[in-house]
Amino acid sequence: MHIPLLDLKAQYLTIKEEIDQAVMEVLSSAKYILGPQMKAFEDEIAAFCGVKHAVAVANGTDALVLALKACRIGPGDEVITTPFTFFASAEAIANVGATPVFAEIDPVTLNIDVERLEERITTRTKAIIPVHIFGQMAQMDTIMNLAEQYGLSIIEDCAQAIGAEYKGQKAGTIGDIGTFSFFPTKNLGGYGDGGMVVTGSGNIADKIRTLRFHGTKTKYYHDQIGYNSRLDELQAAVLRVKLKYLDQWNAGRRAKAQHYEELLDGLVQKEKLILPGKDPDCLPVYHLFVIRTDRREELMKALNENGVSSAVYYPVPLHLQKAFAYLGYSRGDLPVTEKACSQALALPCYPELTGEEQERIAAVVKEALR
Ligand SMILES: *Cc1c(COP(=O)(O)O)cnc(C)c1O
Repeated sequence: MHIPLLDLKAQYLTIKEEIDQAVMEVLSSAKYILGPQMKAFEDEIAAFCGVKHAVAVANGTDALVLALKACRIGPGDEVITTPFTFFASAEAIANVGATPVFAEIDPVTLNIDVERLEERITTRTKAIIPVHIFGQMAQMDTIMNLAEQYGLSIIEDCAQAIGAEYKGQKAGTIGDIGTFSFFPTKNLGGYGDGGMVVTGSGNIADKIRTLRFHGTKTKYYHDQIGYNSRLDELQAAVLRVKLKYLDQWNAGRRAKAQHYEELLDGLVQKEKLILPGKDPDCLPVYHLFVIRTDRREELMKALNENGVSSAVYYPVPLHLQKAFAYLGYSRGDLPVTEKACSQALALPCYPELTGEEQERIAAVVKEALR
């Protein structure tokens, strides 16, 4: 039997009745955009995170763009982020006309290295976007101290970290703004695109609400140039059902991660493999379970031959992407990141994965890296 990286079909089958009913209700309500499902979902996400305001948008990338806009970031401004993330984290910075500045990552957690952040701050720096990579939060205390010292906005990219915690506080609630993605493969995924901005500031929430709807507060009266970026009612209805299961699913992912740790401990002791690094301040949600090895290509081949999917996150660090060539980075500029990109491999890690399947996967990994 083939083991996929993520099994969305299996997940759907566990909640099929509720989902189908929620979808049918939206279809017959004939309200499809900016309706009661979106509003209810916003309130539920705000309550889940423990934050005052949540504003739903079309996707996680727009959430970042609108967050940057709400912080008045644009041409001439610099925004510091990690090069070890999905492209959108930095693409959003470029799309508002600002300049992405890439800071080196921590070799254990693969999150932005807070010890080396300050050296990237210039007089043009306006914000930092920490990305809570693979579902484990960045060291927010140091980031918030720098924000205060230099007067910077902090936008947490929580696309991979919904429900994760840092010192007991939920992802998205420590910085000025948190952004989420409900892309189907995220821990809370819709059946299409979706995103959310959360903030403790009524002023920022208000700005995002206006921006997502063509710069209007009152229909056909446009106060500014905005966007068309809303979460539709079908996605909101699906996500409301799935949100009820999120804590349980995230706990399931943590249990799978722990099982892998036990199964693969021998290889770690022999230094053949590095498991996901844990930060004692954090409660992770294992969006991905990413191991590192110098023999990645060999391991991928062995997994593939044994019917196990795996995937590389991320093959090319953002500072070396063609689209960012204009920023002038070269290979060797951020060696910790570059090394991680050459070693990282995600193994299947989702709530529906069985213990037996994990044992099968671990056996292949052990045999390949013996
Ligand atoms: C998925 C993702 C995004 C973008 O979300 P979309 O909903 O696909 O636009 C942004 N940042 C990170 C870290 C992501 O993983």
